[in-house]
Amino acid sequence: MKNKICLLILIFSGVANVFAQRDFSDSETTKLVILGSGNPNPSPFQSGCSLAVIVHDTPYIVDFGPGLIRKAAALSPTFGGKLKGLEVKNIKRAFLTHLHSDHTTGYPDLILTPWVIGRNEPLEVYGPEGIQEMTSHILKAYEEDIKYRLYGSEPANDQGWRVNCHEILKESVVYKDSNLKVEAFPVHHGTWPNAWGFRFTTPDKIIVISGDTAPLEKIIEYAKGADILVHEVYSKKGFDTKNEIWQNYHSEHHTSTLELGEMAAKANPRLIVLYHILSWGSSDQELLDEIDTKYKGKVIFGKDLDVF
Ligand SMILES: [Zn+2]
Ligand SMILES: [Zn+2]
Repeated sequence: MKNKICLLILIFSGVANVFAQRDFSDSETTKLVILGSGNPNPSPFQSGCSLAVIVHDTPYIVDFGPGLIRKAAALSPTFGGKLKGLEVKNIKRAFLTHLHSDHTTGYPDLILTPWVIGRNEPLEVYGPEGIQEMTSHILKAYEEDIKYRLYGSEPANDQGWRVNCHEILKESVVYKDSNLKVEAFPVHHGTWPNAWGFRFTTPDKIIVISGDTAPLEKIIEYAKGADILVHEVYSKKGFDTKNEIWQNYHSEHHTSTLELGEMAAKANPRLIVLYHILSWGSSDQELLDEIDTKYKGKVIFGKDLDVF
């Protein structure tokens, strides 16, 4: 009897997706998914910074904040979701804006978990200088695990744990296949030496991703004519309560609501999606209202598992 109940629970959990989710998408070809809308603060409601662009069911990950693999799984058919492109073993291409920990502590998970459940080709990673070194250290750290899976009694392939790194050295097209083109452009993240934003051009969408950046002409240039600008932001009201040291830090590294509004008014993308949001006690509506003082276009406060 007990076994039957367990079986029923398993069957039901495989039918209905229980995760709260909003779907704003209007394309069957291209979907943008927020896997994590968070920042370094460990909010239980926001996984670490990570996005997925899915074209014809092929996923392309941007940034590896903690939690990304579990969030991808949440929308995959295996766990009752609708996005075939987020079946975890299908994740084979990934792009990184910069090496900050809130964007990379999910990296071992991204390398190892899809392999453990069946990815049988190397992960291809496109990121800043230093990504090769970080990758080598991660693989070294997990050497015992990799060996045990390969040479123990567990069936495992000898390809899926491998990573091919492609370091981005200049503003350019960094990736192209039959689904899309990815351009990288430099952003301004304090004195961090190499931080990138990306523009994804798919058959029917242009999606620009800011990464972590202070306000920048380059973003305006790339976001002109974009369908979606995914941009980081902090609350101006919250900023005003910070001491001078933090204010100096944030104004050099990140973008306020008012600054984002000013940039948006020049770039005029069809939609702005906020992510990597530093609210500092402000409500979602207060942030949107601050942007609204500078920009009247459509802006959505991004949440984990939102689909655009
Ligand atoms: Zn960050
Ligand atoms: Zn950063």
